[in-house]
Formats: sequence, C-alpha cells, structure tokens
Amino acid sequence: MKRWKKIALALLALLLLSQAPFACRRYRLGRLGAAVDALNRARAAAPADEPFAEYAGVFHVHSSLGGHSTGKLDEIVSAAGDQRLAFVVMTEHPSPHIDTSAATLRGVHDGVLFLGGSELVASDGGRLFVVPGFVPPPQKPALSDLATRARSEGRLAVAGYPEEVRDLGAGVYDGVEVYNVYTNAKRINYVTLFFDGLWSYWGRPELLFARFYERPHESLRRWDELNAAGARRAYAFAGNDAHANVGLSFQDQAGGKLFDLKLDPYERSFRLVRTHVLLPRDTPLDESSLLAALRSGRSFLAFDLFGDPTGFRFTADNGRDVRTMGEEVQLPAGGAVRLAARAPVKCRTVFFRDGRAAAEVKDSASAEFNADRKGVYRVEVYLEQLGSLLDGKPWIISNPIFVR
Ligand SMILES: [Zn+2]
Repeated sequence: MKRWKKIALALLALLLLSQAPFACRRYRLGRLGAAVDALNRARAAAPADEPFAEYAGVFHVHSSLGGHSTGKLDEIVSAAGDQRLAFVVMTEHPSPHIDTSAATLRGVHDGVLFLGGSELVASDGGRLFVVPGFVPPPQKPALSDLATRARSEGRLAVAGYPEEVRDLGAGVYDGVEVYNVYTNAKRINYVTLFFDGLWSYWGRPELLFARFYERPHESLRRWDELNAAGARRAYAFAGNDAHANVGLSFQDQAGGKLFDLKLDPYERSFRLVRTHVLLPRDTPLDESSLLAALRSGRSFLAFDLFGDPTGFRFTADNGRDVRTMGEEVQLPAGGAVRLAARAPVKCRTVFFRDGRAAAEVKDSASAEFNADRKGVYRVEVYLEQLGSLLDGKPWIISNPIFVR
C-alpha cells in the first residue's frame, strides 16, 4: 500500500474513533427519549377529590428590552402558547431610558398570563427579581435593602444566583433561585457540544440538556441553610433565564440558519424546567392569585423535559390538619407528622430535613415518612428508569413544609 494511502487510512480510523463517544451519546439520547415517552404514557391521573388546580409556567425570562438578548416579545408569546404554558414571569434588565418592566409583556396574550418583573443588580453584586418590577434608584442599594423595599410594596422578591451572594442571610426574601439554566449552561464544553449537536441535532436536540444538567448542590445548600436557620421562609424558584442566545448557531450570508443548536430558544428553554403552582379549585389564575401562590410557596419545580410531573403533591398530616407545600404544621406532643409525597409515575423520593437526606423510598409513586421532630421538610424526586444520564439529577424539587 502506498504511503499516502496508509496515512489516509490512519486518519480515517482516527476520525471514526474520535466520533465514537458522540455516536454512543446519540444512541443513549435516543433511548432516553424513548424512556421519557414511555413514562409519559404510564402517568396516572390525579385523584378526583384533589383540592387544588395546577398551573405550569416559567420564571425568569428576558426579551431584548433590557439588552443581553435578541428575543422579541411576539416570539415569547408564540413559544409560551406552543408549549401551553399557563404563565410566564418576565424579569427584564433595567434600561436607562425606559421602565422595562412596564414595557414588557403583561396581562393575557394567546391564553398565557404574563407578569412584568425586573432583574435588579444590587451594590454588593447580588441580584434580585422583583415582580411586578420597578425602576431601581440610580444609586444601587444593597440586596437586602432592595428586597425590603420590594416586599414592603407588596412585590415578590426573589434572590437570584445565590451561589454568588456572599451573605444571603442579611436579607428577607420570598424566595431563592435555586436553579438557573444559564448558570448551569456556563459549564458546557462547546467543542464537545458541537459534535454532540452534529450527531443529535436531527433527533431531539433538547435532550442534550440531560448531558449538562446538574443538581445545583451549592444553591440548594444555601437555600436549605436559610430556612433551617430560624423562623424565616424562603421558597424555591427555578430560573429559565431564557435569552435565546446560548449555544451555537451558524448562518449563511443571507442570514439563513445553517446549523442552529441554541440551547435556549424560548420554546426549548420553556420545556426544560417549569414552576408548577397550586391554586384552590375555585380561584382563577390571574396576576394576584399567581403572586399569592408564589409568595406562599404553594408550588414546586420540575424538569418537565424528562416527564410531565403534573399531579405531584407533597403534604403533611398531623391527625388534625392536612397541609401542603409552603405551609406550617404543628408537631403533636409525643406524636409525629405524616409526610406524604405522590407522583404520577414510579420514582425514587428523598425526604430532606433541614437540608439533610432523612429517608428515601424507591420504586413507588407514593412515599411516606413520619416526621417526629420539628424541622423544615422537603422532597426531591428522581427517575431511575431514565437511566444513568440522569443519575443524581432530580426531576422534581418540592417546596418545604415547616413542622413547628
Ligand atoms: Zn437574567
């Protein structure tokens, strides 16, 4: 064989070898997609006597109004409608010229409820989501002062990017953004994403999210600490942080897309993680009922991409009262509170007390745990049937119930 042929063959072999991990991942993502479909087909319906109606939406969405994004308002409305979201909480960056929280989407568009909020930067570098939003004072206040002002005006105040805030305990917030798609996406290796994209683009590219999605250990730890520390209550929020600008995209000279592996075009971002809110059956969804539910923690977070979690509930029963997420229940003297988690499919449920795993129930759609001590209890739900790509990555993160 001629030398150049040997070199060419060697190069070809190397090229094939280098693609093996991506081909393998394409195969694994295909299996994951099939497992997600099977899971969604196997879901049990919620019981008929369920006292709450459930609404799924997204929190932390930007348009081009505050910069950092190219997203248009009508793209957001159309993506939210396509994904059948009940609500979208916009959190616009401020602009020196206009009140972006007033100029963004508000009210009902195409059947989706929009709330106009702000993402504000504090003097200490912390970030606060305020809903409804406002124009921040020119001299940036500290995070805790911003939160105090927002709450005194009846607005929702959520601390963003908690892993970057030095002293979260200094302020009083309605919630903490325990998961943020963008923060998680910053750890992506774009070289391997490119090849994964080539291999998996014509399948279900959104499932590539399974590759880089990680449990937000540090944010969860800080949130748990905040709640365990005392009488304070802060609830969990997940930020889609949708900008429609993360990922890889190549255009031809006319602007046509040759390859577009954006991880957060709105319709894709809106599928990854959602906030599920519970409203009493006779209460319609509107700005005030949604804000009331978010401010009282009557909600949970779920990575809907891996299965529709509708119908998940976490309750506490002390023999006298039954309470749900965000609520408080009295520990009976000498007795225990029965905590119960119910999911629409078989799963692994982990009960946490003050941030520490206290019990685990495997391979069952319903799980119970007797809490015989005061504490802040919450659950995380895992889908073992989806395979090793999702090992250690929660499907659902509940809000806590406070056993006092
Ligand atoms: Zn943001």
